[in-house]
Amino acid sequence: MTEPSVAASHNKPVAVNNTKLTAVKGMNDILPPESATWEWFEEHVRHVMALSSYRNIRTPIVEPTALFVKGTGQTTDIVEKEMYSFEDKLNGEHLTLRPENTPGVVRAAIEHNLTYEGGKRLYYMGPMFRHERPQRGRYRQFYQLGAEALGFAGPEVDAELMLLVHQLFDRLGLKNVRVELNSLGVPAERAAHRAALVDYFSQHADALDADSQRRLQTNPLRILDTKNPAMQALVQAAPQLISYLGESSLKHLDTVKHLLSVCGVQWTVNPRLVRGLDYYSHTVFEFITSELGAQGTLCGGGRYDGLFETLGGKPTPAVGWGMGIERVLELVKEQSLASSAPVPDAYAVVPDAAALSTVATTLQALRAQGVSVQMHASLDGSTGSFKSQFKKADGSGARFALIFGADELAQGKVALKALRARADAQDSQATAQQLFALDNPNALALAIKTT
Ligand code: ATP
Ligand code: MG
Repeated sequence: MTEPSVAASHNKPVAVNNTKLTAVKGMNDILPPESATWEWFEEHVRHVMALSSYRNIRTPIVEPTALFVKGTGQTTDIVEKEMYSFEDKLNGEHLTLRPENTPGVVRAAIEHNLTYEGGKRLYYMGPMFRHERPQRGRYRQFYQLGAEALGFAGPEVDAELMLLVHQLFDRLGLKNVRVELNSLGVPAERAAHRAALVDYFSQHADALDADSQRRLQTNPLRILDTKNPAMQALVQAAPQLISYLGESSLKHLDTVKHLLSVCGVQWTVNPRLVRGLDYYSHTVFEFITSELGAQGTLCGGGRYDGLFETLGGKPTPAVGWGMGIERVLELVKEQSLASSAPVPDAYAVVPDAAALSTVATTLQALRAQGVSVQMHASLDGSTGSFKSQFKKADGSGARFALIFGADELAQGKVALKALRARADAQDSQATAQQLFALDNPNALALAIKTT
């Protein structure tokens, strides 16, 4: 029955008609078999993170809007136009669906005093929300993997985080991903560069587009980000931050470059790689591919030594990155890398519904022994002919059929039949059928696991 409207006491009535409900634009269902690739990716992530002692952190999807205004930055695209913000009508709080997770992680670190006993290495995976124009590699709900090292000031940790990305990509088998990096120095160096930049762009004010004119007042560094082709020459010739770095900042950058090089990671310095916010310092980097068109940045990160203080915490050096999982999986697909969808070890062929309880207990015992097994039968006796069931078993990709036929059951047994001829087996063996006693499912499980 369809109600004409739903009227919760605190919400305006929402019109409910009979049009088909679909997912929100830019927010995707991830369905099997594609979801198997996500699980494959996530397993590699857990493994790689454990190898470098990064621990999982899970923070809320909804945070106070003020966290992102402060932590992501008032003058960023995200805060200016991409956030899903709303007022909690129950208590008037201003809330936002997280557009990124570094502010949430730092908020949690401050709130729970996570760096009290020393640095913490953390990672997360989960959905982020940005109101952008949906296109390939750009969605309104998308997933990020992120890693953050909190409480470490040294360049070796910047390098460690970049090597973590490299190791993950290596494990996934990804090719043709390049690494760009730059240094943003420290606040005093950036202030000197900013003054030079304002000078330069003010002298060329007539060549600036409307966006850049505005940014000249609010955040001149962001003019360097412009995608306007008409401004590229002007931006190319602008003063570069790297020429304003002092000795210690250059040394920090050199150590990062050196550690990447000795580990076989090729990099290029991109002097135009910048972040327009004051809490960033030293290293910034991106992992980029040319194989995905305009949305080629897979992962972006950097050092944000000032963020803890910006969010009301004690001064704490920190560095991290965020990776777009959809983009990485798009590249995985492009390069034909994902493992195939999982298939069961065995498929139960049940010609007679009367055998169901025996089948159920046997399959449950097999699963307890770590054997994956699938069945298709129905109690109304319409389980299909033996032949059509056998076809299903074969189509499932399983290595074995388990045949619960009347003859076998009469002897208290089940037949195990190999469905895939093994390269090293003779045909007669590969297709041979073996009988196993139903009262000893362990022997059956062992045969499936070791054959
Ligand atoms: P872009 O320049 O592509 O908009 P960004 O600078 O906004 O990226 P970050 O905030 O650094 O991106 O987020 C880290 C990563 O998350 C990006 O490198 C990208 O892989 C991914 N990402 C960002 N926005 C989206 C989105 N709307 N849909 C899918 N992935 C995204
Ligand atoms: Mg963006």
